[in-house]
Amino acid sequence: MKHYTLCVECDISNPQDTVWADGELTNELYAICTCPQGHRTLSSLVHHAPDIIFGSAVRAFRYECYSESILSFTAALERAFEIFFKAFCIKQEIGFKVIDEMWKEIKNQSERQYGTFCLAYCVITETAWKSDNKQVEFRNKVVHKGYIANRSETLSYAEYITEKLDTIISILNRKLKEECTKLNFHNQKSRNCQKLLDGNPDLKFCATGLPSLLRWNHADRNTVTFDDVLKTAEEIEKRFEGRL
Ligand SMILES: [Zn+2]
Repeated sequence: MKHYTLCVECDISNPQDTVWADGELTNELYAICTCPQGHRTLSSLVHHAPDIIFGSAVRAFRYECYSESILSFTAALERAFEIFFKAFCIKQEIGFKVIDEMWKEIKNQSERQYGTFCLAYCVITETAWKSDNKQVEFRNKVVHKGYIANRSETLSYAEYITEKLDTIISILNRKLKEECTKLNFHNQKSRNCQKLLDGNPDLKFCATGLPSLLRWNHADRNTVTFDDVLKTAEEIEKRFEGRL
């Protein structure tokens, strides 16, 4: 995924100008970005993965790549299940070593992950998580049978995923905030950016925060609908000339 950040070196020498550097985002949520002068910035995202994957799904939807957007919406929800479960484990005072080892056992099977999430959700909220079978069947048809979805079907799926993510984020923010912060620090540490910086003295480090369409960490966060998401995405595209 293409990623943009402000060039740290250009910003130090001339803070009045906005100079963008671009690179490719890795699965560890960092990118080595280069500006037109050749300066290199190591941009490490401060976000949770589903926040970024959701942004990619919205972009695909807005550019009418519906199958691609359904794949990414699905991945965003599945990665949110992972965060919820891991934050739940941290709350039980289980160490990261054990959490990471355990996740290895289930990370290749989404049904196992979904099961662990449902259990964690039930314990934290004392309610049962419910999926919409119609939407799950639709997703399977697209993902496994190559069904070509139209805009209206994709919109309905996007609204469903946004509602589910909104529920998860509001519970994470209310009940597992401290655990999510610990998880984020752990994930950032695992990226091993320090090793890259030590091996490449020209690299400048930048912890990057992008606008979150789901308003993930906003202090005044209220319910977010897909309609809100589309409006925000349009504003951001105008403001940053399509870079974010
Ligand atoms: Zn530069």
